[in-house]
Amino acid sequence: MKILACAEPGLLVYGEKETSIAQPGESLIQIKRIGICGTDLHAFEGTQPFFTYPRILGHELAGDLVDPNGAEGFKQGEAVTFIPYFNCGHCIACRSGKPNCCTSIKVCGVHVDGGMVEYLAVPSYALVHGEGLSYDELALVEPLAIGAHGVRRAAVQPGEFVLVIGAGPIGLGTMEFARIAGGEVIAMDMNEGRLAFCKDKLKVNHIINVTTDDVMARLSEITNGDMPTVVIDCTGSLRAINNGFQYMAHGARYVLVGLQKGEISFIHPEFHKREATLMSSRNATRADFEHVIASMKKGLVDPTNYITHRVQFDDVKAEFESWLNPANGVIKAMVEFNI
Ligand SMILES: [Zn+2]
Ligand SMILES: [Zn+2]
Repeated sequence: MKILACAEPGLLVYGEKETSIAQPGESLIQIKRIGICGTDLHAFEGTQPFFTYPRILGHELAGDLVDPNGAEGFKQGEAVTFIPYFNCGHCIACRSGKPNCCTSIKVCGVHVDGGMVEYLAVPSYALVHGEGLSYDELALVEPLAIGAHGVRRAAVQPGEFVLVIGAGPIGLGTMEFARIAGGEVIAMDMNEGRLAFCKDKLKVNHIINVTTDDVMARLSEITNGDMPTVVIDCTGSLRAINNGFQYMAHGARYVLVGLQKGEISFIHPEFHKREATLMSSRNATRADFEHVIASMKKGLVDPTNYITHRVQFDDVKAEFESWLNPANGVIKAMVEFNI
């Protein structure tokens, strides 16, 4: 079977490998779509922390189940996606129903080889039914589930103001699921094009450009002086995260979906007087995947909003670097296998 590996930063290499087979406890998927995300781009750039090479990238996947290998309830030939966070099943997180933050998690395409292959064997417990969705939609479930999980962590209530900082693919998904939860979304970014996208495509009513607007005044105006009761960071920028603390209403929750490498800091009396809650949000759970799929089936999320670039598997190497250039306006590049 054909594979595409990231041999070292900046170098993608096509190769051939013996076609995978499903070992006990695994099922075999013929890959049809691979969504490209920030993790893949950073791995290629060499800026993804703790990343080792060579590695086959790709964790936003859809395909046909060619060998269920006994996976309960799954049929040969059905379209599937899967939860690409492989977990140990017995650590404290797994025992607490939080396999998304398993102490020895192995993310497919990050810690173990991923989906830039024709056939991929995955743990059967990770399979997710396609439920009649298209391959494009199924490949978008994982990145959207990240946002859905952040919104679930925040326990967004109908009518409350939810400030989402960062309008990249994860931020956009977070805005959609905050809206689906009934929140009044405020989108903040420094990129006018992305903010225009939020307004035009996602119908976000409140837009703040952090570089040109008086952020505190705008937030106060939008929220009638209250400030947002939920703030969700999807930038992973240290400065953005540190600034986010001051945007919270008294009693607010602050959820960090984005990840950065340094130490965050905030003024304790300011945090304390708000009786604020700070939490991180890592990956997503099966419940989030199911929520995303149900929302797609109801037409609450339109996958065509996200896919800005589309290539065949054989052209990934030639195109990959261009997706790093912000001028190309990539939201989601989708790789197709047409066999
Ligand atoms: Zn991703
Ligand atoms: Zn575990």
